[in-house]
Amino acid sequence: MHDPFEVFREVFGSGGGGGIFGSIFEEAFGGNERSSRGRGSDLRYDMQISFEEAARGCEKEVTISKMETCEVCSGSGAAPGSSVSTCSTCRGAGQVYVTRGFFNVAQACPKCHGAGQTIDKPCPTCHAAGRMEKSTKIKIKIPAGIEDGSRLRSSGQGEGGSRGGPPGDLYIVVHVDPHDIFMREGQDLFCEVPISFAKAALGGELKVPTLDGQAIIKIPAGTASGKLFRLRGKGVTALNGRSVGDLHIKVYVEVPAKLTVEQRAKLQAFADSCNEETHPEEQSFFRKAKEFFR
Ligand SMILES: [Zn+2]
Ligand SMILES: [Zn+2]
Repeated sequence: MHDPFEVFREVFGSGGGGGIFGSIFEEAFGGNERSSRGRGSDLRYDMQISFEEAARGCEKEVTISKMETCEVCSGSGAAPGSSVSTCSTCRGAGQVYVTRGFFNVAQACPKCHGAGQTIDKPCPTCHAAGRMEKSTKIKIKIPAGIEDGSRLRSSGQGEGGSRGGPPGDLYIVVHVDPHDIFMREGQDLFCEVPISFAKAALGGELKVPTLDGQAIIKIPAGTASGKLFRLRGKGVTALNGRSVGDLHIKVYVEVPAKLTVEQRAKLQAFADSCNEETHPEEQSFFRKAKEFFR
């Protein structure tokens, strides 16, 4: 199960990293945005919803803990009224080179920690980071007809950028629980319903489940196992809301599992009375089989 309140941080954008590995990684791939304005990281949030919620659509409120731009200093990291100047150690590059054996390794500047700038008076709220961890409640409208594994993107709802950079995006990955009795394929629903062999032979009404309650279908006399009945418009609404799928009911004949002495006697009497007309398929099959072995 997925914890509904867990946010997975993925390395989509910049803003992560740190330490020697972060520096090597960024240098190797040419990324150097961290030293100036950084776009906030994209966030991934895994959400588990029920089969019915996916079919009907729903609204969810989620609490996401993420880094947001500090409101006090607007992300600059400097206390209001104080100034920001170019770092004297790295001259604004945010990196310094250190020799490690054969390699020149770029490291985050020890003085400005990769920012490229030094702050005269740090912002007391975010301690010069420019960003702070905040819990945010976000309402998410899940459209009817969403399928398992779909991603919803909420633009600008990811982590806040550093030093005035734009925020990242929030991706909601929707996981749909399977249903006990319904199977879904696109907009159509499938359901297998057992019927007694007496009902299959005699015909009658059959109560079947649908997403909005029970429906009754008429079983004609002599219904074979595996016969499909279609209930139009009882499936799932399309994502664009323009069409609705069908519900397909597949009946299968349940052979009596346990018989009383009396039932057994009656069934035997019935079997003895059967002939070619009672079971035409059985008769024709064995006729063909006989010809085949001749
Ligand atoms: Zn520096
Ligand atoms: Zn601040």
